[in-house]
Amino acid sequence: MRPIKALISGAALRHNLDVVRRAAPRSRVFAVVKANAYGHGVTRAARAFEAADGIALLEIEAAVRLRESGYAKRLALLEGLFEVSEVAVAARHDLTIVVHSHEQLRMLDAAPAGARLDVMLKINTGMNRLGFTPQDALVAREQLTKHRAVKQLTLMTHFATADDARGVAWQMQVFEQIAVGQQLERSIANSAAILRFPDTHADWVRPGIMLYGCTPFADVTARELGLRPAMTLASEIISVQDLRGGDRIGYAGTFEATQTMRIGTVACGYADGYPRHAPTGTPVLVDGIRTRTLGRVSMDMLCVDLTPVPAARVGTAVELWGEALPADEVAAAAGTVSYELICALAPRVPVFEA
Ligand SMILES: *Cc1c(COP(=O)(O)O)cnc(C)c1O
Repeated sequence: MRPIKALISGAALRHNLDVVRRAAPRSRVFAVVKANAYGHGVTRAARAFEAADGIALLEIEAAVRLRESGYAKRLALLEGLFEVSEVAVAARHDLTIVVHSHEQLRMLDAAPAGARLDVMLKINTGMNRLGFTPQDALVAREQLTKHRAVKQLTLMTHFATADDARGVAWQMQVFEQIAVGQQLERSIANSAAILRFPDTHADWVRPGIMLYGCTPFADVTARELGLRPAMTLASEIISVQDLRGGDRIGYAGTFEATQTMRIGTVACGYADGYPRHAPTGTPVLVDGIRTRTLGRVSMDMLCVDLTPVPAARVGTAVELWGEALPADEVAAAAGTVSYELICALAPRVPVFEA
């Protein structure tokens, strides 16, 4: 068997949920498990997040599967319905649906007689992807409050800059125009806002990335936030090569040895989810020792510098990311964010519980 594998720590997932609880003690928690729980597996994550007050995701099929497997708490669809036939499905399985557009508002008219759903009205407060403009949101709020198919209405928005210096005040101001004086529940905060802006916590927080042990911030590490990376991507050295000065590595020969050196070839490539754009110098652990990648990442392999690990040989353990080397660091070296790395874990990589 090819030696690559992903290990998911249920203990780390549960620990990170506790960090959310401590950060937002008065709010209920929707654990966000979209994108196959950021690569960690929806079923596994839902089990680890048993203590959350609800689960939020995008795919109605996955929500229905969770319901059918016995999940009894709130199950929210963060992008709502995509076609009118889904109203009956959502009602039958007691799903909470976001309504972010006039089209989705009209879909509610097709709800079966007697059906009543929990609805989250999404207000566009400045991200400009989904949601009603403030003016339209006032009208939608009134329509939904009176709608025969609406059981409970929650007001919702999403932040664009909770993780950087622009903050959230500019969006909160817009949100308040719709929410002021209303006895409706509110759901606003993502991970960054949970950690940095207590005033946004409201009734329901929606943590994603922090539950998986990664930082939402460019300038604060997961460790500093008390988070534990839940996913380890591990493999092994499958070949050792001795290079002479002037030898080059991999496609396009982008790395050239200046002197004699030993390198290892690792069974992990971009078809496993490792970022192809990770440049020479991206951190990697060989036998627990930090070293660097060399040359282009190929589909099934990448090469690493064995200079700091002279004892390495075929079969030596490699950690691409995990508790000892945060995906955040690998992502930063590759010019992206950990979200992209962990979500991209490829289906061909076998996953085990750690
Ligand atoms: C993905 C998502 C979240 C979680 O965001 P993180 O930055 O991962 O915490 C929250 N709310 C909505 C609407 C989302 O789509």
